[in-house]
Formats: sequence, structure tokens, C-alpha cells
Amino acid sequence: MTTRILIVEDERDIADVTAYNLRKSGYDVALASNGRAALEAIAQKTPDLVILDVMLPELSGTEVASRIRSNPSTASLPIIMVTAKGEEVDQLVGLTVGADDYIAKPFSIKILQARIEAVLRRSKGAGPSGKVLSMGPISINTESHEATVDGESLKLTLTEFRLLSSLVAAQGKVLSRNVLMSRAMGPGVTVTERTIDVHITSIRKKLGKYAGLVTTVRGVGYRLVADLSDYLASDETDDVSV
Ligand code: CA
Repeated sequence: MTTRILIVEDERDIADVTAYNLRKSGYDVALASNGRAALEAIAQKTPDLVILDVMLPELSGTEVASRIRSNPSTASLPIIMVTAKGEEVDQLVGLTVGADDYIAKPFSIKILQARIEAVLRRSKGAGPSGKVLSMGPISINTESHEATVDGESLKLTLTEFRLLSSLVAAQGKVLSRNVLMSRAMGPGVTVTERTIDVHITSIRKKLGKYAGLVTTVRGVGYRLVADLSDYLASDETDDVSV
């Protein structure tokens, strides 16, 4: 089946060049030139991946991303955000609203394609099928890609899902940011350690009152505890803020 990509971009030249090259590589490409049109296009025919410009007329890219995430039928739709300046703040905002990756303009088509392939690979998941992992109130189904806390469904991005799965699979063992990076982002994808922190912060927000289960081990990385009292009894501090 052909992979369908929706490009959301108001700058016509960039949209056309990107679409032309992706079509040449065999992707089925759809275009939307503003945020509202993007949501309509997704509602009509859900793509396999969205390339989403941040600065858009009608609705901003970040707003479009959060609407995609808040709709259960598109909650795990892979999103690559495109920023104009490549400032770190743009990256952080993009990841906070649930983008799976980001790329700064101007970008090369080759790099964009590598990012697309990496995100799609992650979305298909290379893990064992149909396995349910759990620790404390958190359960992960690696086949259906569902995560729950205390029976409540968690709306995680792909990267967040893989990070949380890695932590659950480690069963309380500390995982360094480097290990988390390679498990969640796949081999060959380099992100800063700060990016992992941003994803972890987002996971904690979604865990709500269970946020403390994901604990920071200062100078090392993160680990999951089974019970909030384990966390409260420890002297680890949650020193990550965005
Ligand atoms: Ca724009």
C-alpha cells in the first residue's frame, strides 16, 4: 500500500517542491495550505504521516497538532513539524504539542526523507507483537500501541509511547538518556538529551497524578517506579521543567 503523506504548508514554492520530490520517491502526497484545510483533509482521508508547518494561516501548526492529538482516531498519527527559524524554542514547542520530530527550514529533501522514513519505521513498531507489559498502574500493549494508567487510556505520541514502553520494560532499572534515545528514536537518529527531557515532561503531564512514577535519576537518566510511595520515599527530585 502506498504511504500517504499530507503536506501542510502555506508557502506554495516549498509545498510544490516537497510534493514533487516525495511523489518521485513513490509517496502518495496530498497538500493543504492552511490549518483548517489540513484538519478537513485529515478528516476525509487520514494520511500515514503529516508534515506540518508551524506558521500557518487560519490555525497555527501547533494548534493543528494539538487537535490531531486530542482526536482519538488520529491521536497517534505521525507528525513532523517544520519550523521557520530552527530556534530551540520552536523545537520545544513542537515536541510539547506532540510532534514526533521536527525539521527546520531551509531543509534538504534528502534529510526530510530520512526523517519521514525514521518516523514511519517507529510508527510501524519493530517490537514483539501483542505483548502486554505492565508496571504498577501502567500497562502497555505493544501490538495495539495502547497505553493505560489505572485503566485510563493515555494519548501518547509515538515517541512518548516508545519511551514509556522502554521504561516499563526496564522494570525499575535506570535507563540513561542515551539508551532511551536509541530505543525510542531508533538507530541512527540523533537528538539532544534535552529532547528526551521534553518528551518525558510531556509523558508526566499525561500521567496526571501518576506523574511521579517516572522519576529523574540525577546525572544518569530516568526510571519507573511501581508505586507513588516509592517515589515519595526517595530523595530523587523532579528537576525537569519546560
Ligand atoms: Ca508558513
